[in-house]
Amino acid sequence: MPELPEVETVRALLEPVLVGRTFARVEIADARLTRPHDPAEVAAELTGERVAAVERRGKYLIVRFESGRVLLVHLRMTGNLLHVPGGTVADDPHRRAVVTLDNGSDVAYRDVRRFGTWLLVEPGELDMYLAERLGAEPLDPAFTTKGLATRFAARRAPVKAVLLDQRTLAGLGNIYVDEALWRARVHPLTPANEVPADRLPALRRGIRTALRAGIARQGASLRDYRRPDGARGRMQEEFKVYGREGEPCPRCGTPVEKLRIAGRGSWYCPRCQRP
Ligand SMILES: [Zn+2]
Repeated sequence: MPELPEVETVRALLEPVLVGRTFARVEIADARLTRPHDPAEVAAELTGERVAAVERRGKYLIVRFESGRVLLVHLRMTGNLLHVPGGTVADDPHRRAVVTLDNGSDVAYRDVRRFGTWLLVEPGELDMYLAERLGAEPLDPAFTTKGLATRFAARRAPVKAVLLDQRTLAGLGNIYVDEALWRARVHPLTPANEVPADRLPALRRGIRTALRAGIARQGASLRDYRRPDGARGRMQEEFKVYGREGEPCPRCGTPVEKLRIAGRGSWYCPRCQRP
């Protein structure tokens, strides 16, 4: 599933493609993408909108229009945005939408599992929508150790599960939580409110370092994630523990172990990350 580094990569590569361009033609072929709204109506509303900015908040991609409206895209499990400069997208049974820009190029949305969403947000409604769903942005200076302590204070669930909750921090998913906990030497089953206060600065640093590593390698392509130009990210070649059960910990050589927490596979080093 695309997490913050993957969505940030998509944002950075689509920004020069979209900013200043008008949506000349919009085709939405899947009602699940826009539900409960009618896809043909959303497509008609989007047609003629001119892009002012492409931003990101957590795992949401935010396409801001000059009108003040916003197209809020969430890729969920397997969503992909692909830019086709020539303007003719190849036949693809998983294609759910195509936006033709006023320069003749196409941006196609592909989604195998169909959990992704496109939501058209009216001017002034975005901040409230996001504030209800998302905690701090982990790469912002506003994300502090103190803020993390506050979020953890009343939570007895495993720290792994609490970090997956988007209201704790926005943008983390299974990959980068495991990588961050390894960097901070925190066992994933530790109740969040029992993470020692003196480990919180390391955890904050671990989260930021893991995310920055992912962005620098343009995301992790395990299954479906691709950059908008179709290329794969490279982060999967450099995981410290994620998906590496039985392989040596890069820090101490102890074989990496796997647990199941909140229904998700969780990889950690039993020596570096003691309970
Ligand atoms: Zn280790």
